[in-house]
This record gives sequence, structure tokens and C-alpha cells, in this order.
Amino acid sequence: MLNQDANQEFEKLLNILREKYPNEDLDMVKLAYEFAANAHQGQKRKSGNDYIIHPIITAKFLAELKMDIATIIAGLLHDVPEDTAVTIEDIKKNFGKEVATLVAGITKLGALKYRGIERYAENLRRMFVAMSNDIRIIIIKFADRIHNLKTLEYLPPEKQLRIATESLEIYAPIADRLGIGKIKGELEDLSFKYVHPADYKWIMEILPKKYKAKERYLEKVKKRVAKKLLESSITLENISIHGRTKHLYSLYKKLIRPHINRDLSKIYDLIALRIIVPTVADCYSALGVLHNLYRPMPGRVKDYIAQPKPNGYQSLHTTVFTESGEIVEFQIRTIDMHEAAEFGIAAHWNYKENKGSINKKNTKWIEELVKWQKQIQDNEQFLHDIKLDIFQNRIFVFTPKGDVIDLPETSTPIDFAYHVHSSIGNQCVGAKVNDHLVSLDSKLKSGDIVEIITDKNRKKPGMDWLESAKTTMAKNKIRSALNKSRNPIQNIRSYKKSSER
Ligand code: MN
Repeated sequence: MLNQDANQEFEKLLNILREKYPNEDLDMVKLAYEFAANAHQGQKRKSGNDYIIHPIITAKFLAELKMDIATIIAGLLHDVPEDTAVTIEDIKKNFGKEVATLVAGITKLGALKYRGIERYAENLRRMFVAMSNDIRIIIIKFADRIHNLKTLEYLPPEKQLRIATESLEIYAPIADRLGIGKIKGELEDLSFKYVHPADYKWIMEILPKKYKAKERYLEKVKKRVAKKLLESSITLENISIHGRTKHLYSLYKKLIRPHINRDLSKIYDLIALRIIVPTVADCYSALGVLHNLYRPMPGRVKDYIAQPKPNGYQSLHTTVFTESGEIVEFQIRTIDMHEAAEFGIAAHWNYKENKGSINKKNTKWIEELVKWQKQIQDNEQFLHDIKLDIFQNRIFVFTPKGDVIDLPETSTPIDFAYHVHSSIGNQCVGAKVNDHLVSLDSKLKSGDIVEIITDKNRKKPGMDWLESAKTTMAKNKIRSALNKSRNPIQNIRSYKKSSER
């Protein structure tokens, strides 16, 4: 006999599915619920709830992300092989190969025996392998983790801190790299209070007062801008106030930057106005209307439509001075851009959309990661490199042909050259950034157009390039090129040294 709470929760899931997938046959979903409920029969969560509530809520989150039906079913079944007598083979017989593969993938990610740094590294490695097999596995894992974070209060403090730290340092950066703003935000905000309790308390104290005043003011600005946009015959899909209170941790990270120095009044985008219009052309028209109405703050206009962020994010951003001198940030985007910002890579599995239509460019880094984690056996080294190359802030620069290359902040033309190809790196003799010659150790900025000047006669990198390069990838390639020609180099160098004396 299934319990009432679970049935109610499952009914909510069905309602979301009926609304989002009106033509889909939901019999398999119902079957999966019964199957999981039977398997978890008698098991309880630490909160005292019947266990089955957890997979239902996990599946509900996936439905809200508009994931496909196979993913929803796998969400319902995700803890079955680990916690019950049912096997992957049983799942395959009942629900088919696709669902079984997803559930097997999540099970493999499962509980780790390791502790400390070993655990951390092993966890990352498994995540990357799962991602390269099927991104949906990681998205189910995110949904699972978000519900676990929501019920973290029932666990002992030591476990709370471990799970929250892992979510903040591993899960959230991966969600960000995959462009899933909705998941990244939830993971961060749910973990924040456990990892930095004092700072969380501080923000909760200073924020509300400031926020309320600004919100009232923005209501007026919103009306005025909406009126102007409609007068200029731009169709306005939506204009809304978007608050950073929904993303406390990202606000916190901004506040602790040195030049902000915990001064809330220096955060201009505490609340932003978000304008959604039908087409890209409308985005630029709307920007024109805004700048006609209010004076833009120099250097704060950002065109992420022409130059998307590395994770695919697109919008126009501008910060303006209103008539009373208030500073207000605007974000202008189309509906598609808005969905992409919320759902990122998850949007590729949205109902009705083609499977496998994933932009290879956006997932190539995952394959590189898998190769890389195999190469680096030492866990400490692996973590160090990952933090530097993957989870650090990224910049995006362009080749002269307009291809986007995404690199960690503080990268140099050397990193760029090796990112394009080892031979370009090894034969590099100079670089132009935005048509100007620059030194090989100069720092690149987002939006730079980088051209590498090569010389076929050049056979090996310069010795000092190891210092100019910032990425592990470039450093490794430089080292291996230097090693190949080690003896000759050493000979030449010692010869030079002696002759210089
Ligand atoms: Mn679970």
C-alpha cells in the first residue's frame, strides 16, 4: 500500500509532466513510481520521511528543467540499485536500455569510501567520466544533490559540511561550465550557509533593508521603460525585476572582491531589470531606447550576444544613470537566450528538441578532461590543475577567423597558441592582439582577437615560456617539446653561457 504523502507528491510530478508534455504517454512514469516505491518499501530518510519522497522530488526537479521522459524515469529509479535488492538488469528488463544506462551511470557515481583530498579527486574523476558518457547522468546527480542539500539539516554537522563543501567546490562549478544557471544558483545558495555560516548571517542581515528600497524604486523605472519601449513599437515579451537575493552566494563572491571590500553600495546589479523581447534585432533596438532615455555608464555596456560567454550565455548588459542619479543595471535578451541561460546544456534534451544536437564545441572540454584525468595519476596534482584550468574564471578570445577560444583568466598568447595546436605553439615567434604586436607574456582579455605569428624554422619553445604560460595544457606541451630536444638545448645553453662570460 503506497502512502498518501508520496502519492500526493507524485501527483504533483504528473501534473508538471502533463503540462509540459501534453502528448506523452505517462504510463512508464507511473510504472517507475510503483517499481521504486516497492523497492524502497520500509526505508526512511533521516528526516523521517518515507524514502520514496526523495526520488519523486528529484524527478520533479528534472521535469521542471524539461528533461526528457527517460531522464524523469531514471530520476525516480536513481537510488534503487544502490539501496535495494533490485539490480540494473531488472531495470533494463522493465524500462529498457536507455533508462538502465542512466541509472547505472548514477550508481557508479555513488558513495565513496575515500576521505579528504583522495575523495575529492576521485569524485571529480567519476563526474567527468559520467559526463562524457551521457550528460544527463550528471544532471540527474545535480537534481539528487539539490534535494539532499534541502534536507541537510537532518544530518550530523560533519556530514553537512562535507556535502555542502563538495557541492560548492565541485558540483556548482561544473553546472556553471555547463551553462545551467538554475542548478548552479541552487547548489551555491543551499550550500552557502553550511560552508560560510558567519558570512551567510552577515548578508542576511545587511541585504533586506537595502533591497526593499531599491526594489520600490525599480518599480517606477520599470513602468517608465516599459512605456518607452511600447511607444517605439518594440514588442515587449516581458520586463521584470531580477534580484540577486535569489543568488546570495554569487552576491557574496562579488562582495568579497578586493575593490568592493564588502561594501554593498558598490554592487550596481543588486537588482537588475530584465527585458525580454522577440528577436535579436529587438534586443539592440531596446538598448538604443534605453540609452536614449538614460545615460549609460561608460565601460559597462556588454554585448554577450555578439560575444557569448564561454558557457554559451547571451544577453546585452548595460548600466545606466536614471534621472535621479540612481544606478540601474539592465539585461536584454530573447526568450531563447533566457531559456539557454537557465537550462544551459540541459535545454538540449528539452521535449521536442532533437537529441544529440549538442554543440560539440561546448562539450569538447569534457572529453579533454577525461583524457587529462587519465594522464594525471597524482591526485594532488590533478586537483591543482583542475582548479587552475577549469574552475577559475574564464575569458574568451577570438582567432582572426572569428573562432572562439576559451581560456582561464590571466592566460597569455603562449596559452592561446598551444590551445590552437602544439605546432603553432612550438613555432610561435610573436603575437598580435587586436592588430598590435604584444609581448608573449601579456595578459589576454575577453574579446581580444589574437593572431599568432609563426616561423617554420623555429623548432622548440623558449625556456622562459614555462613562466609565461598559465594553463597546464600549454605547460605540459612546452615541457614535452623541451624534453624532446633536451640534449641539444643544454649544449647550446652551456655553450652560450661560457661564451658570454
Ligand atoms: Mn538520491
